[in-house]
Amino acid sequence: MTAPLIDPFARAITYLRVSVTDRCDFRCVYCMSENMTFLPKKELLTLEELDRMCSTFVGLGVRKLRITGGEPLVRRDIMTFFNGMTRHLESGALDELTLTTNGSQLERFADQLYAAGVRRVNVSLDTLDETKFADITRWGRLKQVLRGIDAAQKAGLRIKINAVALKGFNEEELPTITQWCAERDMDLTWIEVMPMGDIGNEDRLGQYWSLKDVRAEYENHYAVSDLAERSGGPARYVRLEETRQKIGFITPLSHNFCESCNRVRLTCTGELYMCLGQEDMADLRQPLRDHPNTEAPLQDAIRAAISHKPKGHDFDYSRQTLDGQMPRHMSHTGG
Ligand code: SAM
Ligand code: SF4
Repeated sequence: MTAPLIDPFARAITYLRVSVTDRCDFRCVYCMSENMTFLPKKELLTLEELDRMCSTFVGLGVRKLRITGGEPLVRRDIMTFFNGMTRHLESGALDELTLTTNGSQLERFADQLYAAGVRRVNVSLDTLDETKFADITRWGRLKQVLRGIDAAQKAGLRIKINAVALKGFNEEELPTITQWCAERDMDLTWIEVMPMGDIGNEDRLGQYWSLKDVRAEYENHYAVSDLAERSGGPARYVRLEETRQKIGFITPLSHNFCESCNRVRLTCTGELYMCLGQEDMADLRQPLRDHPNTEAPLQDAIRAAISHKPKGHDFDYSRQTLDGQMPRHMSHTGG
């Protein structure tokens, strides 16, 4: 039997997040500039390569795959990839196949995703106001996303809404968004905005809104109790007693959760990032492309990479710029 992936701090790596494209049909102001330059196609892993890569990770003990991007559902023929992963769900090697999406293509893909074995989807949505939605996503249309969410729920997919918390933008919508999620039986998680990549010099529509303040805002409206539950990731949860809703808070760069970190991230070009907050990465595309018929070199490269997984993103040592800016885009590493 193949030995599982264990990093130097005795953490088992069981969760792989995979960015399948850096492209997107939206241009969210906190994520991309309006005129983004995307990678040449030949840099991207092909769908077959993505399958081989993910299957190798599954063979090494990864039990959960989250597909992200860019917008994963704009990658051409992406269902071929999802359908390929179904075999790992069926064999019992994989516990969960899931994705994070902006929802724009869900109307078209919801049934197919369910058929492929996807049961839960994270949909990113920061506002329920059509004008504000068009402003924050630049190219997105709220109605299309809402139709996508309807289709996904109808198909049997469980939805979690991820909203980026932006002061002066969706601050006053907190009760509305919360109520809407309660009515539709959807979980809700707030994400703290991070300065990532070059997103142009335009004014950000909103400003940093700390999740401590978001939580305090909840206390103005609800009885809030802390939940002990952790996901091995950066989310903390509370329960709103009135609606029994579970609300999550993600502070992506807080390092309180590093000791239980079980995840690594694969970019659409086959780079493996061991930690979202560190620049250390390993190129897996080369061993994959150099050895089309044998998995051993790729497995060795993965093991070598995991043996360098840092303890956490200790900012004293990270290569962040002084203002805290991360040099790479979220759409490259996969949010
Ligand atoms: N396009 C898909 C989507 O929007 O869900 C998947 C990729 S997107 C990069 C993944 C998540 O990252 C989204 O929830 C998005 O809101 C979040 N995100 C992007 N830029 C961010 C930033 N600068 N700070 C915090 N979250 C960010
Ligand atoms: Fe696209 Fe998602 Fe980035 Fe918005 S957050 S621009 S939807 S990748």
